[in-house]
Amino acid sequence: MYPASFEYLAPSGLDEAIEMLRLHGDDAKLLAGGHTLIPTLKQRLAQPSDIIDLGAIAELKQIRTEGDRLIIGALTTYSEVVESETARTAIPALAQLASHIGDSQVRNRGTIGGSIANNDPASDYPAAVLGLNATVRTNQREIAADDFFLGMFETALEDDEIVVSVSFPKPAKAGYMKFPNPASRYAIVGVMVAQTGGGVRVAVTGAGPCVFRSQDLESALAGNFSASAVDGVTISADGLNSDIHASAEYRAHLVKVMAKRAVEAAAWRSQRSPGASPRIPIAAATMDSARAAPVSGSGATEIVTTSSLAARMIASARCEGMVAHFSRWSK
Ligand SMILES: Cc1cc2nc3c(=O)[nH]c(=O)nc-3n(C[C@H](O)[C@H](O)[C@H](O)COP(=O)(O)OP(=O)(O)OC[C@H]3O[C@@H](n4cnc5c(N)ncnc54)[C@H](O)[C@@H]3O)c2cc1C
Repeated sequence: MYPASFEYLAPSGLDEAIEMLRLHGDDAKLLAGGHTLIPTLKQRLAQPSDIIDLGAIAELKQIRTEGDRLIIGALTTYSEVVESETARTAIPALAQLASHIGDSQVRNRGTIGGSIANNDPASDYPAAVLGLNATVRTNQREIAADDFFLGMFETALEDDEIVVSVSFPKPAKAGYMKFPNPASRYAIVGVMVAQTGGGVRVAVTGAGPCVFRSQDLESALAGNFSASAVDGVTISADGLNSDIHASAEYRAHLVKVMAKRAVEAAAWRSQRSPGASPRIPIAAATMDSARAAPVSGSGATEIVTTSSLAARMIASARCEGMVAHFSRWSK
């Protein structure tokens, strides 16, 4: 299907983009990598009057350090994070997470700003932003990670707000592990654990309607930051997603397995030189283990064979939330 007609706007600077957004209000949509927005336009889940393409705005593309923080511009692609010596040295777990997002086409187009603004419940960066206690910088303010992700496809961003960058404090230790959907690589469950200045943080993506922190895992790891500390924690299936990919009970099981592995990855990372290649084979490892430790009633063997986003959206329980989210622009 072709998208409904719209005006295409290509600002060359941030101020120009902000002015365009101000003029066109909530009928306009920002375009970053387009990997989510373009399919939703083609499905006519969204019919904005104007598309504001951020692609030419150089100031949104940057990776740098600022004291003990890593700053990543909103338009920075996943691949650029993976390949950046600065990012790999500052927060290896973040570069490793980026290296396992989607496939190479997705990593070459998808951006951190688009990912967190979209806030898909199965996406990877929200777990990093929340788990590492990052701050989202917009054209208007700074938003703490704890206040940014509000619900399924919902964030604290206003209609006239643009994500400019994300500021990550460097953790003492951090690790991320996910059990990926074999077709899209979205997280069926992904867990980021981090030892930060403010204590241990554990962020879970894929399991619920929105990324969330696990207080139980944080308490267990605060006293003993080791995989064995996770053993005594019970993860409830209440409120977790249940769909064609995995039951809520299986997701609860995966939260624990991925948390243990994330802690092990954090320990592994802390013993290696910074800047080492981030692509450790988490996907293969997680798939093998989940098969070896099945949970009764698990839907994990049900594999979707198409990589079509449209088919995935229709098949997924997240579809309803996405339709509600995008239909707000189609009035
Ligand atoms: C086949 C496939 C596999 C994928 N696998 C994964 C995966 O494994 N893990 C994962 O995390 N993701 C995955 N994705 C999603 C991918 O990461 C998307 O690129 C991402 O969700 C959106 O980023 P984008 O840059 O393409 O944003 P766009 O599609 O351009 O925009 C998405 C939304 O964000 C808004 N937006 C964009 N930039 C800004 C900004 N700077 N400020 C405010 N709002 C903004 C747009 O208006 C739009 O509402 C996959 C996608 C596909 C198609």
